[in-house]
Amino acid sequence: MNFVIPPAAPVVLPVSDSDAVFPARRVYCVGQNYASHVAEMGGDGRQPPFFFCKPPDALVPGGGRIAYPPRTVNLQHEVELVVALKTGGADIPAEEALDRVFGYAVGIDLTRRDLQAQAKEKGRPWEMGKAFDQSGPVGALFPADRIGHPARGRVWLKVNGALRQDGEVGQMIWNVAEVVANLSSYVRLAAGDLIFTGTPAGVSTVRRGDAIECGIDGVGTLAIELV
Ligand code: MN
Repeated sequence: MNFVIPPAAPVVLPVSDSDAVFPARRVYCVGQNYASHVAEMGGDGRQPPFFFCKPPDALVPGGGRIAYPPRTVNLQHEVELVVALKTGGADIPAEEALDRVFGYAVGIDLTRRDLQAQAKEKGRPWEMGKAFDQSGPVGALFPADRIGHPARGRVWLKVNGALRQDGEVGQMIWNVAEVVANLSSYVRLAAGDLIFTGTPAGVSTVRRGDAIECGIDGVGTLAIELV
């Protein structure tokens, strides 16, 4: 292929205990998927899931040092179970959805909450609040054929050693199979797609110099530092 400019390098995630890597295609995120977080954001009840996207090159595979982003004074963390698909499809039935899953990882949906709040207020898109550079640190993938499909497990996040989020995967409003099924009714999913499945309560503001550590039982841990 005779490219007129160099093509972007593929974005790949490490796979735990493997030399092979997972190539990322699209990155979807579920909004407000834990009742405790819905309440802290001012919502209520079991609404149908809704989705937004981050560009794949916003992922930060393995975490590490992340530049504090511009145009915000309210950067917040959202620790989330991330689902990685090995196959896709449209209109996937929930009972077949887990067959599409390659594995799971811990991720952080970094959010410029002030920009997201302005967008909400004005009915504008969320991208500048959610889809900025380095907004998606994500840890190594753990294959489902090794760890199964985590239906329970503690999901936690600490800032400078202080516990800020302490939830339970089993408290997701829409479980992984339901999320995959619902999302596939809007878009055709494919191998390489990642889905951030929402965050429990306790989101909080972080600053330059903060060290963030998080984890999910059975799905590993992830650490980042804001520089
Ligand atoms: Mn989120």
